[in-house]
Amino acid sequence: AKADGTAVYRFFSQQMEEQLQSRRNLEADMRHGIRLGQFEVHYQPQISLKTRRIVASEALVRWRHPQRGLISPAEFIPLAEETGFIDTLGEWVLLQACRDALGWPGNIRVCVNLSPVQFRQTDLVGTVKAALATTKFDARRLELEITESVLLQDNAANLDVLSRLRSLGLTIALDDFGTGYSSLSYLQRFPFDKLKIDRSFVRDLESRPDSFAIVQSIATLGRNLNMLTTAEGVETQAQLDLITKAGCSETQGYYFSPPVPEAEFRAMLDRQSGT
Ligand code: C2E
Ligand code: CA
Ligand code: CA
Ligand code: CA
Repeated sequence: AKADGTAVYRFFSQQMEEQLQSRRNLEADMRHGIRLGQFEVHYQPQISLKTRRIVASEALVRWRHPQRGLISPAEFIPLAEETGFIDTLGEWVLLQACRDALGWPGNIRVCVNLSPVQFRQTDLVGTVKAALATTKFDARRLELEITESVLLQDNAANLDVLSRLRSLGLTIALDDFGTGYSSLSYLQRFPFDKLKIDRSFVRDLESRPDSFAIVQSIATLGRNLNMLTTAEGVETQAQLDLITKAGCSETQGYYFSPPVPEAEFRAMLDRQSGT
């Protein structure tokens, strides 16, 4: 029995060793990959429900791995956050998004995700300011998306960073709204420009009246607090009708378009200005 136990232990420790090794490989691959130009930023349009026109797009990073193909951020962002690589990657996405958006019509804005881990940087404000200066991109066309974890534990330092970011002239959106814990108190701590209503509420709109009530309440809250509301993950005409009825101001979802490479997004903008 003892011998068996040792064998089982060896088996598991070997498995753990392999997992650890594959993580280390992935991390090394990421650091090489960014230098080799394997990362790409795709863009998903955000549509005004009033005008039905594209008003902005969200920058979403992808990794074109030479062996594994296109890897989704869900697979590498957590590792990038654990290892601190997110600082390098986040800055790269921001620069790329500003450069890309320079080529779009001046009324189209770009939204970039900021990881809570990036708020541990000593000079996040300086990094963002430098990106704007380097690219000569108008701060008013830039929106940064954060999740409420940035405001967790009443983090006074992060609140200060957010205020200083906002005073650069850019706007701040609260992402995945409604999925966290004490969301409403955050709205008193910081004047967000936009609430992004989490996809989980939109997904159930047709089947669950309580989801509609929640989306409608968030839209009303947004209007009363002078914030835009973007309904995320709209996939069907029925969902579009319901978020419109609920009073949301914008939408982002597969119904209009999935995230697409920059050239494809630019073609969408061209078609829009042609009509
Ligand atoms: P997120 O910020 O909530 O981004 C929206 C995600 O929802 C995107 O997934 C988008 O492709 C997906 N989505 C949009 N519309 C629909 C829809 O109608 N149906 C469904 N099923 N999904 C939809 P993606 O691109 O895989 O990104 C996943 C997450 O990875 C993002 O969630 C964000 O948290 C993170 N992420 C992506 N790019 C970056 C980045 O540059 N920096 C950081 N820090 N995080 C990023
Ligand atoms: Ca986002
Ligand atoms: Ca989101
Ligand atoms: Ca998310």
